[in-house]
Amino acid sequence: MAPRTCALCENAKAMLKRPKTGQQICRECFFYVFETEVHNTITQSKLFQPGDRVAIGASGGKDSTVLARVMKTLNERYDYGLELFLLSIDEGITGYRDDSLETVKRNQQQYDMPLKILSYDELYGWTMDAIVSQVGRKNNCTFCGVFRRQALDRGAAMLHVDHIVTGHNADDIAETVLMNIKLVMRGDIARLGRCTAICTQGEDTIRRSKPFKYAYEKEIVMYAYFKKLDYFSTECIYSPDAYRGHARVFLKELEAARPSAIIDIIHSGEAFEVREEVKAMQRVQQTCKRCGYMSSNDLCKACTLLEGLERGMANAGITDRGRKQLDLQGPAPDNLRTIPFFKIPSGNPIIAIETAS
Ligand code: SF4
Ligand code: ZN
Repeated sequence: MAPRTCALCENAKAMLKRPKTGQQICRECFFYVFETEVHNTITQSKLFQPGDRVAIGASGGKDSTVLARVMKTLNERYDYGLELFLLSIDEGITGYRDDSLETVKRNQQQYDMPLKILSYDELYGWTMDAIVSQVGRKNNCTFCGVFRRQALDRGAAMLHVDHIVTGHNADDIAETVLMNIKLVMRGDIARLGRCTAICTQGEDTIRRSKPFKYAYEKEIVMYAYFKKLDYFSTECIYSPDAYRGHARVFLKELEAARPSAIIDIIHSGEAFEVREEVKAMQRVQQTCKRCGYMSSNDLCKACTLLEGLERGMANAGITDRGRKQLDLQGPAPDNLRTIPFFKIPSGNPIIAIETAS
């Protein structure tokens, strides 16, 4: 059978079947359509302003590595006028994050972007290895997720950036919609609205967005493969996340039956709108009394989790019962290790960035 020609340029030999559309296309056309779709997402959502300083949340994995490459390409091709940085969080997971950070350091040189690495140890006084040795393998991702979210904001503040972009892709967002459906049943549709938003920003946080909101995971893998990008593909050694695992398997089955299912689910999530009276009932955001980070309670989640760790009652930050037990022990001691006070800085950045070695 004669080789097919590319359905887009009708010239070169088709090398792949595009997961999103099923079209048989050549490599160059694939790169072009993939990048152009991300560019369209960026421009339609008006994500950036010329002169913005943008930190790319970089883990060394495929999504963030492709994001760094595509952001660099689009910034140059369309003259966005952005100053790009790599921002990595070192959770302190031996045999996983230490290796993936080596990939990020190579990416720093390959893409010629300044890199800042901020570690949990530096910020919270705890590595994930130490946390797991205290809490076990059940709630470790709760600690890690809360600590990472705050660490990214703090790292971005140190870099004085206007914006953080992350490599969350369409599959991640569709999975989150599926996992949040139960919240809709309970009437908590605000969270569903937030998970499909391309860009989020609290009053005291840095703008955060997902330029890969409509990019399929399979296409990101293909892009990394055909561009021969240098990325790290090992799973975290503490990764249980069974619930997301179920949503992921279900989504893959839906995608196999109908590739548009991923985008359809995102559009369904987007269609939920929060009524004004519901918005008015939501808790007012304030700042954490201990560390100054945004919070809907007196203490932010990270401070609560950290206090539980420090006082040897790790579940105090996880369950109401744990918190009550901790409260019975009396107020936190004065010498409790806490997170440095958070403030979005103004003026020029003073933080040292990693230098390529
Ligand atoms: Fe952290 Fe859990 Fe992800 Fe590992 S799998 S990096 S512990 S959130
Ligand atoms: Zn706090």
